Amino acid sequence: MTLDLSKFAAEKGIKYFMISYTDLFGGQRAKLVPAEAIAGMQKDGAGFAGFATWLDLTPAHPDLFAVPDASSVIQLPWKKEVAWVAADCTMDDQPVGQAPRVMLKRLVAEAAEAGLRVRTGVEPEFFLIAADGSVISDAFDTAEKPCYDQQALLRRYDVIAEICDYMLELGWKPYQNDHEDANGQFEMNWEYDDALKTADRHSFFKFMVKSIAEKHGLRATFMPKPFKGLTGNGCHAHISVWDLEGKVNAFADRAMPFGLSAQGKTFLGGIMKHASALAAVTNPTVNSYKRINAPRTISGATWAPNTVTWTGNNRTHMVRVPGPGRFELRLPDGAVNPYLLQAIIIAAGLSGIRSNADPGPHYDIDMYKDGHSVTDAPKLPLNLLDALREYERDEELRRALGHEFSSAYLKMKHGEWNSYCSQFTDWERHTTLDI
Ligand code: ADP
Ligand code: MG
Ligand code: MG
Ligand code: MG
Ligand code: MG
Repeated sequence: MTLDLSKFAAEKGIKYFMISYTDLFGGQRAKLVPAEAIAGMQKDGAGFAGFATWLDLTPAHPDLFAVPDASSVIQLPWKKEVAWVAADCTMDDQPVGQAPRVMLKRLVAEAAEAGLRVRTGVEPEFFLIAADGSVISDAFDTAEKPCYDQQALLRRYDVIAEICDYMLELGWKPYQNDHEDANGQFEMNWEYDDALKTADRHSFFKFMVKSIAEKHGLRATFMPKPFKGLTGNGCHAHISVWDLEGKVNAFADRAMPFGLSAQGKTFLGGIMKHASALAAVTNPTVNSYKRINAPRTISGATWAPNTVTWTGNNRTHMVRVPGPGRFELRLPDGAVNPYLLQAIIIAAGLSGIRSNADPGPHYDIDMYKDGHSVTDAPKLPLNLLDALREYERDEELRRALGHEFSSAYLKMKHGEWNSYCSQFTDWERHTTLDI
């Protein structure tokens, strides 16, 4: 039964709803709707001028309606009179195929048709920085190897514990928080769930972390590589596939190497096969490519992949199988669109299952040190343009994500690349002036 948002408001004392949708670049767009008006909006959606956000639409298009999915509603733990609700975009009463949450729902349904339920966890790393964005916020956080730094973690207790308290209150089952490998960097982990739920929580998490950081006079950034020489913000995804009831993990088979079932291996095969094209979505910004393929950081390792390889419990490869019944994709970064991340994982994985894809050999080497010995594994794209071209070439993946999405995404992202290339930089002046 669909939750009645108007009743929900009355019961919880909610005065306003944020009807929120995510555009192609991951921007969260919302209207603040008084509870008195939510009944009509729940039925018809809130109207937006789609062109004003990062969607491939023109100013002449009719209204985009964001129709709330009431099952996603979350009362803001830090502002209880407001509730956030994720919405699905329609236009002329039709679902908008390029809208990320609409597309993810379609892929979840496709997996269900094959009897599969994809469950994932994400690890969205972030930095707490000064409000003006220029430096990290803690002047004492200067260790060469700052990972798990006890002292620095406790100096940010007020922010981290407040966010973790809220996740506990929301029932997300958070289980650990730590200082990560870069100065000023943190990670908070909560339990995995169905792909759509994880995408909604991932979106809300970013909104919550930024909001609470701002409340404390700071700023949170998920930018892939905010500081040269420091480890970047990854957003690893852990993936398992279950039966429709969610009782049997179809990826688990303790008799197989790494405890990964034959079906799990073909899903992984799909990820490996489409990896270079995947990067166009998992590493969606110009800055993303300064995290992957990066030189060694001050801490000693980037913790990001540079090549399309997989392994057991070893963090130097693109895919790690940390234990039975799941694998970890270490490619995505903090700029990834939460819905597109889940959608492209499902699309690539289903393609792998359908074609019985072989993930190829696993390598149990230190890729950072001995990667050169794996000569036939493809290098990951070196920049956004490379990745977009890989995506263009990958007809199967393009089709799986749908023509409407693929053409819109490519058009918008090529626009971003062209905007980047039109910049005149100090570097080119410096290297070319006296040529
Ligand atoms: P690490 O840093 O070692 O990669 P974390 O504990 O930070 O691991 O994150 C692990 C993520 O994987 C969490 O979101 C967790 O809920 C998720 N996870 C654990 N088991 C599974 C599983 N079977 N399927 C999908 N995700 C899982
Ligand atoms: Mg107006
Ligand atoms: Mg982690
Ligand atoms: Mg981490
Ligand atoms: Mg990880």
